[in-house]
Amino acid sequence: MILCRTPEEVNAQVKIWKSEGKKVGFVPTMGFLHEGHTTLFEESVSRADKTIVSIFVNPAQFNDPEDYAKYPVNTEGDLKLCESKNVDLVFLPDKEAMYPGGIPDVVLKIPHLMNNLCATSRPGHFEGVLLVISRLFHFVEPNLAFFGKKDYQQYLLIREFCKMLAFRVEVVGCETIRSDKGLALSSRNARLSETEKEESLLVSRALRLGESQIFSGVKDPVLVREIMKDVLDSSAKIKLDYLEVLNADTLENLERVTGNVLLAVAVFIGPVRLIDNLTLSVDE
Ligand code: AMP
Repeated sequence: MILCRTPEEVNAQVKIWKSEGKKVGFVPTMGFLHEGHTTLFEESVSRADKTIVSIFVNPAQFNDPEDYAKYPVNTEGDLKLCESKNVDLVFLPDKEAMYPGGIPDVVLKIPHLMNNLCATSRPGHFEGVLLVISRLFHFVEPNLAFFGKKDYQQYLLIREFCKMLAFRVEVVGCETIRSDKGLALSSRNARLSETEKEESLLVSRALRLGESQIFSGVKDPVLVREIMKDVLDSSAKIKLDYLEVLNADTLENLERVTGNVLLAVAVFIGPVRLIDNLTLSVDE
């Protein structure tokens, strides 16, 4: 496995692989890797000839300095895990390599997909994501890039962004990986105590209840939301950030729960913010 710390190194290696006709798959991450990430690596290894993983905790996408400062890091373990999953190259830049001279003063936005959910509850977050993804895509020039649908709005935004700006990359969305008990895996779960972990199971339970209510005929989005909210409100430890029932393609509000539907939740448990979602295909 090759380890690169500068954009120049990674781009030189990509140029060699491309000259040999190899298809490059790319998985951007912020490290502290878990099975949610490694599933993306496996998908890339199976679909591309070479797989590149980046590990970079992107300061531009954190609107909360404490969240950035406390973001978990495990570089040594991450590198071992990448190697064991047959990743070909890890790009591990520091802030200076990623943003020489500081974070550039440019604002990237797709307004129609940034009116709700994490875009409004974390102002500036997706602007920072689109910035780092643009820079990474220029360095890595991937043919395929893999993103988890756990961060559903991020996946939708990046897919649209690549279309709009003609990045020559196929953006592939991968299903959310969960613990046996249903908790969506996340690097931030490491900051939860054992009791907080138990409480966090209410998030996926609320989503599953929303799903079953919809499939048993509840088509009023307000009612679905209320039913899900009751589950989350049953814990004093959970503070709701948002809970939405939306059109999964446009992220617009629904009159009736039909078509491609997104159930999306964000909560705070103690100081930790967790997000989760389900997408459903609902007949009339
Ligand atoms: P992060 O390191 O949190 O920036 O995540 C890097 C990539 O892994 C993103 O595309 C995430 O959506 C994806 N990811 C994180 N957790 C999961 C999960 N539980 N299931 C599937 N994909 C995930």
